[in-house]
Amino acid sequence: MLKSSLQRHARLGNLARRQISTLVSQQIRSRPVVASCQRLAQSERQVVPLRQIALRLYSQQSAAAPSSARTDDSPASIYNVTRFEDLTKLGVDERIIRAITVDMGYDTMTEVQSLTINPALKGVDLVAQAKTGTGKTLGFLVPVFQRLIASDSSLASPQHRMRASSEDIRAIILSPTRELAEQIGVEARKLARHTGIVVQTAVGGTRKREAMHKMNREGCDVLVATPGRLYDIMTDQSTRVAAPRIQSFVLDEADRMLDVGFADAIREIVDILPPIREVDRQTLLYSATIPRDVVHLAKSMVKTDNFDFVQTINPDETPTHARVPQHLVATKGYENWFPAVMELADRAIEQSKQDPDALPFKAIIFFSNTATVQFANRVFKSTYLGHRLNGVPIFDIHSKLSQDTRTRNAEAFRRARTGILISSDVTARGMDFPNVSHVFQLGLPPDRDQYIHRVGRTGRAGKNGEGWLILSEDEIKEARYRLPGLPIKPNQTVKSATHVPGQGTPDPEVAKYFDEVSRAYERAPRDLFAATYNAMLGQKFGRTLNVEAIVRLLNNWCLNGLRWEQTPAISPKSAKNRGLDRVPGIRIGIDTYERDDDRRGFGGGFGGGRGGGGFGGGFDRRGGGSNRNDNFNSGSRFGSRDRRDNDPFSRRINTDFDSRRQPSRASF
Ligand code: ADP
Ligand code: MG
Repeated sequence: MLKSSLQRHARLGNLARRQISTLVSQQIRSRPVVASCQRLAQSERQVVPLRQIALRLYSQQSAAAPSSARTDDSPASIYNVTRFEDLTKLGVDERIIRAITVDMGYDTMTEVQSLTINPALKGVDLVAQAKTGTGKTLGFLVPVFQRLIASDSSLASPQHRMRASSEDIRAIILSPTRELAEQIGVEARKLARHTGIVVQTAVGGTRKREAMHKMNREGCDVLVATPGRLYDIMTDQSTRVAAPRIQSFVLDEADRMLDVGFADAIREIVDILPPIREVDRQTLLYSATIPRDVVHLAKSMVKTDNFDFVQTINPDETPTHARVPQHLVATKGYENWFPAVMELADRAIEQSKQDPDALPFKAIIFFSNTATVQFANRVFKSTYLGHRLNGVPIFDIHSKLSQDTRTRNAEAFRRARTGILISSDVTARGMDFPNVSHVFQLGLPPDRDQYIHRVGRTGRAGKNGEGWLILSEDEIKEARYRLPGLPIKPNQTVKSATHVPGQGTPDPEVAKYFDEVSRAYERAPRDLFAATYNAMLGQKFGRTLNVEAIVRLLNNWCLNGLRWEQTPAISPKSAKNRGLDRVPGIRIGIDTYERDDDRRGFGGGFGGGRGGGGFGGGFDRRGGGSNRNDNFNSGSRFGSRDRRDNDPFSRRINTDFDSRRQPSRASF
């Protein structure tokens, strides 16, 4: 029995290999999938159910075959779908397809769409990993919508909208951030346009009552939400929101959703949904990165006897897009950061004027904490870059802004032809701002995955883009630990990176950037820098970075860059609590700063006023940013963390999924 099964698998393996050689000879684009299948054929024959191999094989065919290659309706060819139009062969409702091909104007599927829509339509649970910007959203929306219509044909007709009920939600899509939930909501509404499916969003930071009225009035078939708000409305009896017949449950940015900050919330949500044995539902997990520590949680989410995993990233390949060159600029100190960004921005703006094919300058600048975002926003806005007439529009997004402002700024940046978004990690994942030409990361990213997600804001949907990581020289060693196996190349072309203020005569261009930034520092409210100082002292130090080095860097920035007479004080209590009281260079005391009336929502005196100088803007580590899941409670009661080596699921995931599998060292 076992023997014959193995023989069958081996035959399929051979078939897979034959497919592969054909595909290689055709020089198709989908090499990562081929590699994935190859491994499958060689090493996983014993552990992967036959049906899954077959599925992958069909999937692989579908990704690889030229779109016009097959037109017959033979059983094999029904999987061979790479054009949206051909989804009719798989029974997808014409109204869904019309929204994609006519309204959105997409003809050919991306690889991850081609590979996931087929199996998802068949009802299996899915774990899917594909690079950022490759269209994962439609990859899960299409099967979710089709499943709804297939089970209730009245949902296909726009007339259904009159009867939709918020007490009968059929699909829930969860996102880690509010901005991403809103964005998925917009795409889902576009897809629903010719059908009767009603899509609603529920995110934290908005008026719950108003949103509830809207849901009760208009009904809701598909709800896109952040976990905190979803749990809140589903457990509040007065909201009249329920999902007794839920059919689809999707986690976008799945690894983040299963990470410690969110895992408990997700489990609580799953607990209030009807049990799968009573109401069958499909679970779809999509992400660009899947680190080792969430693998077991992923397992506890899907039906392990009826799931498929699709991976369009070869584990040996870099998880960022090859067409996004990634530069590392090592600066003398933090005081070089803003002048370096000015220089690079000027260079890019000039280049886009010279070269009509170059993208207009549209940049995101990421910082790992909110306070630095607020400070940088003020500084850049008062340089010529932010000039109302001659500069570019500058926006900020972080968790201290009201949700209305966050949504407005995201929308404005999305629409902007050129501009700068200064952001904390709340926009690092999933956000699809079109035509972003540059992603700047200033300071150490919290970890490798976060670096990858931030870079993924550029080079989306086949476009070009550039990544720039700007670090002080003292941070490079730590960056090597955090960022192995990525195509980051040192770049020495930025002249402002190496100038030491007060030493020597700089090149006139460098002097221009430093002078411009100096003037802007003077106009920025002092408490903003004090908060930045505090927040950067609160960052994760890692293996090689020590607090003394950070204090030195911050003090130099303060004294030589901002030209303050003394560094911001840390209150005695805070210094003691944070172990900073004996660190050389820390000034213990209480500072008070004048209130800046321009800013809403930021109380006066920082240090003293805040009862001991808390962590300024807070460390916005992963961009949950917005709800009760912000705090990183350790440990989760959800899932088990011990790894069982004989578990086929784990074995497959460990070898195939782990985005932190770090075979190589840093490239810089
Ligand atoms: P991901 O979730 O993989 O990061 P998104 O779903 O946000 O990617 O999609 C990235 C961009 O590509 C979006 O603007 C989306 O509308 C566009 N897109 C999606 N599918 C296609 C397609 N088949 N052809 C062209 N563009 C597409
Ligand atoms: Mg996405």
